[in-house]
Amino acid sequence: MAVKIILVTGANRGIGLEIVRQLAGMGHRVILTARDEGKGEKAVAQLERQKLNVEFIPLDVSDEKSIRQVAEIIQKKYGHLDVLINNAGILHGSEGTLSVSRESLEEHMATNFYGPFLLVQALFPLLKKSEDGRIVNFTTGMASLSSPDGGTAAYRLSKIALNGLTAILSADLRGTNIKVNSVDPGWVKTDMGGSGAPKSVEEGADTAVWLATADKIPTGKFLRNRKEVAW
Ligand code: NAP
Repeated sequence: MAVKIILVTGANRGIGLEIVRQLAGMGHRVILTARDEGKGEKAVAQLERQKLNVEFIPLDVSDEKSIRQVAEIIQKKYGHLDVLINNAGILHGSEGTLSVSRESLEEHMATNFYGPFLLVQALFPLLKKSEDGRIVNFTTGMASLSSPDGGTAAYRLSKIALNGLTAILSADLRGTNIKVNSVDPGWVKTDMGGSGAPKSVEEGADTAVWLATADKIPTGKFLRNRKEVAW
């Protein structure tokens, strides 16, 4: 097995931490990133107790300086990147389109859309040097345009924008060695999903881990449970 260099955002807890655990367990070189250094180091120590070695680099995806710094560190240390997993996300409030504030919309867009977007731009030169570059964008069934629902407008709109990035970017990447897909993990038991969610973090991480490591994967698709779903 070729060892891949894989960066996961928002990986100090929830689905992101589980993705790191599974990928490190397969023997890949995984970079666990988190916006809070203390929380990131605690997550790394937790994995070390399970005999898993991962590297920690601080990364706040809503901070352009932090994004530039992570790109510089990976350039110096590895010279390339094989997989970027845009997992970090926020969901604050359930206001619908008629009452949601501009501030809330901007807050969600900063983390859930501009973060992944700017990371892709910053890391593209490193992904281009991979023999088999991959980008995985975490979105949600709540961003579905084929069966839209109301409420939670800031979150939905930010993830719809991220799905749009997946689709357009895959066309821009045609003819390159980089594949990009969106993932809906389903409703997962995490701080965001709550304790009543039916899926475990292991199940929530599965499609992203598969997209990061399988020999053959699609590009420009929206996937749930490893299968293509309608946007
Ligand atoms: P979670 O338990 O709330 O964890 C979110 C992670 O994102 C945390 O590590 C958090 O860090 C990090 N984060 C937030 N803002 C950040 C920023 N500016 N920079 C870096 N990291 C940041 O969420 P989850 O359930 O694991 O969700 C992971 C992804 O799946 C998200 O994109 C979410 O939208 C998507 N998703 C989840 C579900 C579900 O049912 N759980 C369903 C559909 C889609 P802190 O600890 O510092 O806050």
